[in-house]
Amino acid sequence: MADNLQRRRIVVNGIVQGVGFRPFVYNLARRYGLVGTVSNTSAGVEIEIEGIDLDRFENSLKNDLPPQAVLSSFATEVIPLRNYTEFSIGLSRGVGRVSTQIAPDLAVCPDCLRELFDPDDRRYLYPFINCTNCGPRYSIVTGIPYDREKTAMRRFEMCDDCRAEYEDPADRRFHAQPNGCPECGPRISLCGSDGREIAGAEQVVARAAGLLRDGGILAVKGLGGFHLACDARNEETVRLLRHRKNREEKPLAVMAADLEMARRLCRLDRDEEGALLSPAAPIVVAAARGDNGIAPSVAPFTDKLGVMVSYTPLHHLLLREFGGPLVMTSGNLSEEPICIDNREALARLAGIADYFLVHDRDIYMRGDDSVVMKMAGRIRPLRRSRGYVPRPIPVNGDGPRVLAVGGELKNTVCLLKENQAFPSQHLGDIKNLEAFGFFKEGIHHLQEIFEVEPELVVHDLHPDYLSTRWAGEQGILPVLAVQHHHAHLASCLAENRHDGPAIGIILDGSGYGQDGTVWGGEILVGDFSGFTRYGCLEPMPLPGGDAAVKAPWRTAVAYLDMAFEGNLPELPFMADHDLGPIREMVRKNINSPLTSSCGRLFDAVAAMSGGRQTIAYEGQAAIELMEAAGRGGKEPAYRWDIISIDDILYPGLRALIRQVAEDVASGISQAIISRRFHRTLIEMLVGAAERVREQTGLDTVVLSGGSFNNYLLLEGLIGHLEGKGYNVLVHRQLPAGDGCLSLGQAVIGRSWLLNNHR
Ligand code: ZN
Ligand code: ZN
Ligand code: FE
Repeated sequence: MADNLQRRRIVVNGIVQGVGFRPFVYNLARRYGLVGTVSNTSAGVEIEIEGIDLDRFENSLKNDLPPQAVLSSFATEVIPLRNYTEFSIGLSRGVGRVSTQIAPDLAVCPDCLRELFDPDDRRYLYPFINCTNCGPRYSIVTGIPYDREKTAMRRFEMCDDCRAEYEDPADRRFHAQPNGCPECGPRISLCGSDGREIAGAEQVVARAAGLLRDGGILAVKGLGGFHLACDARNEETVRLLRHRKNREEKPLAVMAADLEMARRLCRLDRDEEGALLSPAAPIVVAAARGDNGIAPSVAPFTDKLGVMVSYTPLHHLLLREFGGPLVMTSGNLSEEPICIDNREALARLAGIADYFLVHDRDIYMRGDDSVVMKMAGRIRPLRRSRGYVPRPIPVNGDGPRVLAVGGELKNTVCLLKENQAFPSQHLGDIKNLEAFGFFKEGIHHLQEIFEVEPELVVHDLHPDYLSTRWAGEQGILPVLAVQHHHAHLASCLAENRHDGPAIGIILDGSGYGQDGTVWGGEILVGDFSGFTRYGCLEPMPLPGGDAAVKAPWRTAVAYLDMAFEGNLPELPFMADHDLGPIREMVRKNINSPLTSSCGRLFDAVAAMSGGRQTIAYEGQAAIELMEAAGRGGKEPAYRWDIISIDDILYPGLRALIRQVAEDVASGISQAIISRRFHRTLIEMLVGAAERVREQTGLDTVVLSGGSFNNYLLLEGLIGHLEGKGYNVLVHRQLPAGDGCLSLGQAVIGRSWLLNNHR
């Protein structure tokens, strides 16, 4: 027997801190009668293990992980025996480079939830109950290794009971860093908008629920920031909230107390329910039930509703007490980042919220709720934030470290380190100073937590984005500009661990093109090292540039003017507008840049066919046009053509626009027009892919860009392309919109460095 006695040092990496990993190792060692130590180090979790049959231990270590743990590397070596007598958990030490990862914030687990409502439990109704399987993580961390001293919990001294749990390896709260109880942990309080406390700890939840029932608007401090909450069934209050928040029509998310309540609001399938109850607890955009009692102003002009289920203990207490669904929207003014600090919230939200439900556990890193939707057979993110970040996206290969700063709208930044990419949470539209501040915070926090010193900063080709300017002004590292749609292509390749080259069908609203025009309906061929533009939607004029983006009717007039060469047919939508100035701008080419944008094509068709004339939020016209199509109907596509000029393919828009106009003129319904239009666009893009395949022999197609949040387009293109034998790659972990850009920029940047540019 003694022959087999051995000691090994095992170092593992991945998400192994803050997920109950050390107690798991401890219990495993005890089960197999082994001795040694386990400790968190900044190089990973280090285990020294001594005894007989260590292979069995290693196998269990890899295969029976705690639910939230993820192993990304595993190194083992035999070392000299030291004849320990027991297994112990060592102190954390900072050693050299940091390589373990912080877990995302986790929804309260079933065990904690049971205790929360158990009158005999010492944490009965305690709003901060958590354990190694649940609770705050990324949002409360200031650095690693993940220990209480480096979290917002450092100012709370544990009481004897909590400490005993914390130190007992058999306990579910063993080394649960946010551990606390009513005696020693964070507390809630309720204040008016003047900051004065109006209820003590015991009555807070009941008072808050009462204020909500009376139509009050409540700011609630959550995991990644403040929410604004109100009764989702009270139309008057919802309207007031929209008015105060300056948010006109963009749908508001609703929080349900539990799955039962969510099911009464939306028709949910198994995947959607799974997402709702997952530890990430995102907002799931699903089919709204007609009779769900939700006020019309919550999600006007759409048949979908964004719903989530309570994910913190405080939400559970509040929702249970309130007894119905609550609007839960980011605590901010429209377009600004979510508030995290109590004083900041009081200052910035005073004009919106009547009351503030706050607590004294600080949030270090803000993060909005994530948003997902089931499209093309699986749950896909529309916004990747709380609950997912900072989980890495594994990528192929290794190389220099790169920081990519993304684009402008729905922005993220991304750090690339070894074979992993770390996209930040959704940072919003980097157009105003507040959002730009959040952008800088995001970069700082990512670098801090991962201790990454990049060799290169990558930014978008657009010279005027604040992210581009930041890259140019940081003044330390070399910078590289990457074309927007190339970044989309590379992002989707990288996420799918495909090195390319591939055909990219990249469809979105806009991105700065290499020729200085606005691109957005692109047929590219490329990989991480470069790309060629094989084609694009036939360029059309955009009268007034950005002004047209907000007013789809302008785009419609311009496209019609082009399509009919000035001889416009009379269509109903024209009655409400002054067409002259727009037509003059187009004809004289005044401030009417050409664009191949797919988003603008949707806008034009939407406005022509009686849809949105002006929009209240990005993508609104296109979303409503898509929803108008419904799911039925077998109407044929319009006739289409692809023009080839100087080796560039142009899926033709003029013929398409003319046929849409004919249908509109003859009173065909928008539902039918929408279906024919979607079908035509799909056939035309597949036709373009076929031409590119003939030329290049490539049969892998990448689909990326914000237009692929349109499930009809996504599902239609996947179906048609796969039917013709293509290997189709789409996003699964990142949004197809501009939230994915930073990953693409990062892998392109690394490739650039590796190709002799260092
Ligand atoms: Zn728990
Ligand atoms: Zn305690
Ligand atoms: Fe884009």
